[in-house]
Amino acid sequence: MELAIEATDLVKRYGATVALDGLTLSVRRGEVLGLLGPNGAGKSTFVECAVGLRTPDAGTIRTLGMQPGRELCTRVGVQLQHATLPDRLRVGEALELFAALYPRTADPRALLARWGLERVREQPFGKLSGGERQRLFLALALLHEPELVVLDELTTGLDPEARRSAWALVRALRSEGLTVVLVTHDVAEAEALCDRVAIINRGQVLACAPTDEFGGLETAYFSFVGEGEAWPVLSAR
Ligand code: ADP
Repeated sequence: MELAIEATDLVKRYGATVALDGLTLSVRRGEVLGLLGPNGAGKSTFVECAVGLRTPDAGTIRTLGMQPGRELCTRVGVQLQHATLPDRLRVGEALELFAALYPRTADPRALLARWGLERVREQPFGKLSGGERQRLFLALALLHEPELVVLDELTTGLDPEARRSAWALVRALRSEGLTVVLVTHDVAEAEALCDRVAIINRGQVLACAPTDEFGGLETAYFSFVGEGEAWPVLSAR
């Protein structure tokens, strides 16, 4: 089976904090994999290692068959949790600016239309709603037509309508054959969107399985995370 990400025994420390504590996980090509876990579990650190934004202290990781680094950036799209842009930068300008960074991109106008951003093309970033910002970050993450997309807390802070349309966008990406890593602490979101889910806590994968094999993801989640018990790892592959 072709793997988009293959991580083995990853360790990442920030001073005395152990963010990844021997994390082993694979992401298959073409799937939507959910990373589910409480705040501070290590989800963001894992995806940052996977796309080359951070270097693990120990363990191995390969993304799209490569050592994560600069060369990956044309093949991976990332929407990060704390992304922001200058308040006065207009939506259309942001797309043009980012398009100039890549050797090859999709048509920025088509992306604006696709993500429902035409109406706010001339709006400065600072005036956009939460949903519009998320759609802009998605459009920017997809501008260079990546093979793998990382979405870190895509829907956090969105109202129910914007959340629903974000879900439709993720489903559309999947149907186009992209590999999606969806970082979330929303069990319902993981259940609705993901082919497989990895439950992460304290820098380790506690369970990883097809979503429907958890037999109710919420119950499974709380039995792994809520009790804080050391449950056996089901399968990290
Ligand atoms: P999650 O995405 O699951 O919320 P993170 O990967 O952001 O988890 O964080 C894992 C742990 O590492 C947390 O204890 C967090 O406080 C810590 N951490 C994350 N980034 C940094 C950083 N840049 N400096 C110091 N500690 C960090």
